[in-house]
Amino acid sequence: MELWYTENQTPAIRFSCKVNKTLHTAKTPYQEIAVLDTEPFGRMLVLDGMVQTCTEDEFVYHEMIVHVPLFTHPRPSDVLVVGGGDGGAIREILKHEPVEKAVLVEIDREVVECAKQYLPEIASGLNDPRVEVIIEDGIVYLQNNPGQFDVILVDSTEPVGPAVGLFTEDFYRLVYAALRPGGILVAQTESPFYNADILVKAYTGMKAVFPRVATYLANIPTYPSGLWSFTLAAKQDAPLPPSRQPAPDFASRYYTPELHSSCFVLPRFVKDMLEKAR
Ligand code: SAM
Repeated sequence: MELWYTENQTPAIRFSCKVNKTLHTAKTPYQEIAVLDTEPFGRMLVLDGMVQTCTEDEFVYHEMIVHVPLFTHPRPSDVLVVGGGDGGAIREILKHEPVEKAVLVEIDREVVECAKQYLPEIASGLNDPRVEVIIEDGIVYLQNNPGQFDVILVDSTEPVGPAVGLFTEDFYRLVYAALRPGGILVAQTESPFYNADILVKAYTGMKAVFPRVATYLANIPTYPSGLWSFTLAAKQDAPLPPSRQPAPDFASRYYTPELHSSCFVLPRFVKDMLEKAR
């Protein structure tokens, strides 16, 4: 008998893929976790019935959430990831030579443990001496740690359950306070096709707090609609070109310096929805 994973991406759209084996399931105080070995996308981490990351396409998401802000910042020495318990963002952050410390604040310890056990190629950076893993609500952590970071990444689940508060203007104020002068925030802001309301809310929330805000896009096959948005907010009101270039041996599969500039060029419907929201 064939085994299939099916996700209800909207009330009228489903995504399915063939599963070779269910490797792990658990219910934590925060969410339901599943790790599946899928035929087309490799190992897949699912939280509350939503794909979080897959070994075959995770490089797109993790490179784009990390390298765009870290190559924009001239000297990102202290970087915070809120959420991101799979470790993929941390793995990419550690490729940046100026990084001295990377803090991961994940609310659910079991996501981190599960990633270390079942997704070792994604979680590979979590034991690096430059990395501190803190199990706490990202909101509480930010309230207690102002002015400490050059870059803050919000690598969160969709705005349901514990992640609801990570998409609010109040949260962006906490991020602003936790960033040093010249600091940069990037958050994953969902699909412009299926979750335009979430993208617009995040964009307007950041606009109310930061002088410069810009959305960029990437293609991620296993995320709803395949077209994914990230929104960058900077403390300085200045253009945001890359301020550093990858070294010749910098390992990436999606990110390039050319893509860095072009990913901010938005399709008309996305531009329109963000301009209307101002
Ligand atoms: N790449 C993914 C995506 O876009 O779907 C996100 C991956 S990562 C697994 C998301 C993590 O955010 C989850 O492990 C979840 O536990 C964590 N999270 C949700 N709300 C949080 C909060 N308030 N503080 C810290 N971590 C949180």
